[in-house]
Amino acid sequence: MEQNQQRFSRQILAFGKEGQARISNVKVGIVGLGGIGSFVVQMLAYLGVRDFLLIDNDIVEESNLNRLIGATLDDVKNKTPKVEVATKLIYSINPDSQVKKVFKNLRTEESIDSLAYIPQIIFGCVDNDSARLILTELSAAYNKTLIDSATEIILSKDYQEFGGRVIVAKPGEFCLLCAEEIDLEVARQELESQEESLYRKSLGYGLGETVPSPAVVSLNGTVASLAVTEFLMLVTGLREPHYRITYKGMRGVFRESLDKKRPHCIICNYLVGKKEQADIKRYLKQGLPKDLR
Ligand SMILES: [Zn+2]
Repeated sequence: MEQNQQRFSRQILAFGKEGQARISNVKVGIVGLGGIGSFVVQMLAYLGVRDFLLIDNDIVEESNLNRLIGATLDDVKNKTPKVEVATKLIYSINPDSQVKKVFKNLRTEESIDSLAYIPQIIFGCVDNDSARLILTELSAAYNKTLIDSATEIILSKDYQEFGGRVIVAKPGEFCLLCAEEIDLEVARQELESQEESLYRKSLGYGLGETVPSPAVVSLNGTVASLAVTEFLMLVTGLREPHYRITYKGMRGVFRESLDKKRPHCIICNYLVGKKEQADIKRYLKQGLPKDLR
């Protein structure tokens, strides 16, 4: 304990012993251990978070080495899972941590069950709308706060912007649908079966194939830092977290949230606390539920 007091002495000056104790006792889930998630993990471990659930089914590839915190060339050669890189990072900072790794897709029994029962706060560090939709429903149904992060880099001839945003979705108060941060048509296409996908494409419908998007380490770091700071506000109670913080890189400005809950939001009004009744596991099968089409 004495050692911990030394380690966190400069933080205790900011949050007090009680605030630090809250940070050390919170259980956190991180879904997506890529560019943003690896930063989030590192910062949480430094802050003194000790209890982690990590979910990601990717392995390290060479194109990740411009931004994946903790990853090395050996991890590319060894095809190391990203959850392993994150675990190594956590233990290197604090060997007393508890880490549960799920080297699986979000749409598996183990991922859904682990998220439903282990963490109090979930970080969404994913790059697709179907995962955002599942995490939004799950966190509402099981009364957890979801902190969702995303970056964007658009450098076309007519329009240049880079930046990102963090959404703090609190059960019953605000969610990613209220924030209009989920394109349900995109989510539907991501969730469809191979047969459905082939049939749709045969009819000439669709939003095109996904191609790799630009990714830059400093932008990931900026957005991950915003997400972790909102987490700190939530856990220590220093202030209420903002529902949304936006970073506009071309202008170099941050914007605070003007968002409100949508009065008829199906997630915020009908799904909160419903647990198994919300039937999140229907996403293990294919397709989007009827009520969201
Ligand atoms: Zn909502």
